[in-house]
Amino acid sequence: MSVTYSGRYDAIVVGVGGMGSAASYYLARRGKRVLGLERFGLPHAMGSSHGHTRIIRLAYYEHPSYVLLLRRAYELWREIQKTAGERLLYTTGSVDSGPEDSWVFKGSWESCRLHDLPHEVLTGSELHRRYPGYRLPDDHLALVQPDGGFLAPEKCIVSYVTAAQAQGAEIHARERVLEWEPLEGGVRVRTDRGSYEADKLVVTAGAWDGELVDVLDGLAVPERQVLAWLQPTRPERFRPENFPVFNLLVDEGRFYGFPVHGVPGFKFGKYHHLEEVVDPDTLDREAHDYDEQLLRDFAERYFPDGCGPTMDLQTCMFTNTPDNHFVIDVHPDYEQVSFASPCSGHGYKFASVIGEIMADLADTGITRHDISLFRLDRLTEPTHRPSSAPPPITQGQANGQVHERNGHSRSFPRVPDVRPFW
Ligand SMILES: Cc1cc2nc3c(=O)[nH]c(=O)nc-3n(C[C@H](O)[C@H](O)[C@H](O)COP(=O)(O)OP(=O)(O)OC[C@H]3O[C@@H](n4cnc5c(N)ncnc54)[C@H](O)[C@@H]3O)c2cc1C
Repeated sequence: MSVTYSGRYDAIVVGVGGMGSAASYYLARRGKRVLGLERFGLPHAMGSSHGHTRIIRLAYYEHPSYVLLLRRAYELWREIQKTAGERLLYTTGSVDSGPEDSWVFKGSWESCRLHDLPHEVLTGSELHRRYPGYRLPDDHLALVQPDGGFLAPEKCIVSYVTAAQAQGAEIHARERVLEWEPLEGGVRVRTDRGSYEADKLVVTAGAWDGELVDVLDGLAVPERQVLAWLQPTRPERFRPENFPVFNLLVDEGRFYGFPVHGVPGFKFGKYHHLEEVVDPDTLDREAHDYDEQLLRDFAERYFPDGCGPTMDLQTCMFTNTPDNHFVIDVHPDYEQVSFASPCSGHGYKFASVIGEIMADLADTGITRHDISLFRLDRLTEPTHRPSSAPPPITQGQANGQVHERNGHSRSFPRVPDVRPFW
């Protein structure tokens, strides 16, 4: 079926997932004529924003400068929750834990200290007494921050889309963008159903960003992830009231997890699961026995009361930049085009504020938010690295991999999982 609309849009948003749904809303709320184009359904489980829950936390070991954005993200989540009339944000507290001198514990503590965030530091056994589901080594420290919790991502996307439509946005699902071209003062977008023109283009295509934005090709690299939900043998220990969300650095790697919500099991995953770089169109979406075993081994050691039968296993995609920070910028050659990377496995919590930033960039080319850490040129022109950006990656680039997509081979640095962000 071919659908061609006459007239021109103020902005076209490509990809109506976590970031694009929010961007569509904040643009429409400013009175802009918006077209949102999504290749799958609304919502769907083919990208990076499915699986019932996403952690949100104020303590931020990845870099303390994220905290200001998080404060705004929380405000906007509460606002859209009110507009939607539906619960989107759950507060459970958050635990960031690891050995005392680990980047996860120390980074989290540093962000609390710098931003004056309420927090407590507990040993592994103190944490177990407070939250009995946890059994961490006693020589590990846990930073507990009361504002942490989780979002319900599919509901957030639906809420933003509904609110955008109420403001007049047109949102088309199951319509794939094939290409775009710059025009004098605008863009033309060709899809598998038609062709559209707009003054501005916002690309929030998640794992497919690299296909649609030339300057992100090779810098936004999709990676397969696997999640497990296990039925707790002591369910009272894994309820949202007494099981804070977690980020743990342990001998086996860095893991994150949630209380029981949406599925009759507690959910967790390992960051950079098996370090499998993928093409988003040919990703192995099956979860295998070896994926499950890796995850169960972790849970048996640190959450022994959580290890009943498996309730579900799902795959999903991180899309990583070389330094694991976001890329949010205006295209270096076309000022009418802006983009947001899918944020290296830690972006969902920011989707509300990134939506606002994308609306700012499309509207005026600038934003009041500090996005200096996310500029593209830190990755393309290392000598222009802003002082707040993380140090250049050296160790770990050694195992750089080559990825074939669209007939092009692309090499990129493999970022080690455990690395200083700050
Ligand atoms: C397993 C897992 C766990 C995570 N846990 C957390 C967490 O706890 N907390 C946290 O903050 N973050 C977390 N993240 C990261 C977070 O989920 C992502 O940063 C976020 O979902 C990315 O949102 P996005 O809008 O960029 O991508 P998506 O939500 O995938 O949206 C991109 C959209 O673009 C569409 N699209 C692509 N190409 C086209 C095209 N050509 N035409 C039209 N549409 C197109 C896609 O279909 C998709 O809907 C996790 C990620 C994964 C995979």
